[in-house]
Amino acid sequence: MSENTNTIIRGRYAPSPTGDLHLGNLRTALLAWLFNRCMDGQFILRIEDLDRPRIHPDASKRMLADLRWLGLDWDEGPDCGGPFAPYTQSERTAIYQHYLHLLQAKGLVYPCYCSRAEIAQAASAPHQGNEGPRYPGTCRFLTTQERTENEACGRRPSLRFRVDDTRTVTFTDDICGPRSQHVQQNVGDFILSRSDGIFAYQFAVVIDDALMQIRQVVRGADLLSSTPRQILLYEALGFPIPTFAHVPLMRDEQGHRLAKRAQSMGIAPLRAAGLSPSQVIGQLAASCGLVTKDQAITPKELAVHFSQNLYGTIRAISQHTKIFHVP
Ligand code: GLU
Repeated sequence: MSENTNTIIRGRYAPSPTGDLHLGNLRTALLAWLFNRCMDGQFILRIEDLDRPRIHPDASKRMLADLRWLGLDWDEGPDCGGPFAPYTQSERTAIYQHYLHLLQAKGLVYPCYCSRAEIAQAASAPHQGNEGPRYPGTCRFLTTQERTENEACGRRPSLRFRVDDTRTVTFTDDICGPRSQHVQQNVGDFILSRSDGIFAYQFAVVIDDALMQIRQVVRGADLLSSTPRQILLYEALGFPIPTFAHVPLMRDEQGHRLAKRAQSMGIAPLRAAGLSPSQVIGQLAASCGLVTKDQAITPKELAVHFSQNLYGTIRAISQHTKIFHVP
């Protein structure tokens, strides 16, 4: 561990290579980079490729190339290494296993044999959003015999984190302000490792951010509701909790979130249309109020501009969820 990482603000961008980065992903990357660079921080690029069935071959390579084309850079990452390597989650499973054992030793993990359909059926209220229903705790108190019976039927368990029943998690997001969530009532005991053996995002992201000494998490607002779960894991493992800033998601003309799945527009058509990196950066910056109108600007120029009025800019971002007009 190098000496100065404790005083330098370490931030990161952590894309999942499930397709090419669309303009919304790129805007989030730009903001994460700006928040970090305007504080003279160290920026880390991490590839979150645990969900193997959803990973697209070559997507990581194209993501890194698109980010570099835009003029974003990083101090540590899968292509350049660094003191906390590897920076690709699929190469870190032994690390996750180690921390899973630590949580197991504290009695905070239990096996769950429920299928998704069973959980949906058992859920008392219809769920909101895309996170699925609250887990009602069905397998929390299974006896050893019940566990053995499930195993004998060939059921492979997921592993769940035992959430404190009494705890309301509170934190202040640098953009969204004070938040609180009673995780047990809203989410229930959540998955650390799926029944197919894949470690869950909620778990891996905490281990990685903690071990990579990330102190500043800037990411899309779709992950705001994940943060209380992650805070519980930071606490359970005794890791320091970083600051959080959840930036607005970019929406299309109909007001829908852009999605990698739906082939939302990435950089390729803009490049093909002859736009320069600084023109694309200008568009991304204008779409969230960092600059008043579209202009060609480099990330470095923007960082200078941004550093002079960080808090004003944060407010501007939070007020701008403008639709991005395709150039
Ligand atoms: N890998 C996540 C994504 O691509 C981001 C996770 C995070 O920033 O915490 O949406």
